[in-house]
Amino acid sequence: MREKRYQVFSSHLKERFGGRVHKISVDAGFSCPNRGGTRNRPGCLFCDPDGSGAVGIDRGFPVTEQLERGKEIMVRKYKARHFLAYFQPFSNTNAPPAQLRALYDQALGVEGVVGMAVGTRPDCLPAEVLDLLGEYHRRTYFWLELGLQSIHDKTLGYLRRGHDYATFLQACHGARERGLRLCVHVILGLPGEDRAMMLETAAELARLRVDGIKIHLLHVLEGTPLGDLYRQGQVPILEQAEYVELAADFIERLHPATLIHRLTGDGPRDILLAPLWSLNKWEVLNAIDDELERRGTRQGSRVQGR
Ligand code: SF4
Repeated sequence: MREKRYQVFSSHLKERFGGRVHKISVDAGFSCPNRGGTRNRPGCLFCDPDGSGAVGIDRGFPVTEQLERGKEIMVRKYKARHFLAYFQPFSNTNAPPAQLRALYDQALGVEGVVGMAVGTRPDCLPAEVLDLLGEYHRRTYFWLELGLQSIHDKTLGYLRRGHDYATFLQACHGARERGLRLCVHVILGLPGEDRAMMLETAAELARLRVDGIKIHLLHVLEGTPLGDLYRQGQVPILEQAEYVELAADFIERLHPATLIHRLTGDGPRDILLAPLWSLNKWEVLNAIDDELERRGTRQGSRVQGR
């Protein structure tokens, strides 16, 4: 296998735990403040009815059972032994601390679960919740995953994110104070953003030295407000070659130590409207590797003053 020119999260996990670690997504029943505290109101432009969640979650079962079912599949397919519980859809800090604790503890009680990741919004992290997350950080291998998408307020407004960049910075600061590992989600190819704007997001995240990043490609799903705009011809979609170039540009501007948890986006096949080329995930990832190799650059190559 050729040498990767960026920090691959799965390799980091393998090193740390002495073997492959499989992430299992769970839906603990949370709602989202940006959907009016429910699951039914529209929220972010790209949010699907399942709260931008993963496919294959056994919703409706308790957390423990969702994990046991996920484990069963992973063990059968990959002889997996180590797992991360990933509280993924909606906003997984949107409850009082006692309720959060009960749900998080269920996950850590499952055999083979070596850590957890909690996904949420920057405006859903009051001090008492951050304190609780700090406790889990000390107890286990813990990641806080924050949706940001872009550092540009104009874009955040267009996406109807319901928070601005300053709110993200505040959350980032609160997480840092408690020593939390922070993984930030961004999207490349957002309407209204040119290359320079996207690369400003990379440079800012390098400045902040975030611990991890998920780079998503803008993909349009059926049943989302973005899907409606796309059908009206209002959402330009990147070609694969454009995305590959942008992703390489973005990686070059990230801090060399930031772990890359994800490098493309592959929405659920049955509701993906565009771009369909994103379904060929390995082709996209290989093309990004090829591009970095062709340039002779790597993650951090264009970070100034590092
Ligand atoms: S913050 Fe997440 S769950 Fe809430 S509306 Fe936006 S994408 Fe959906």
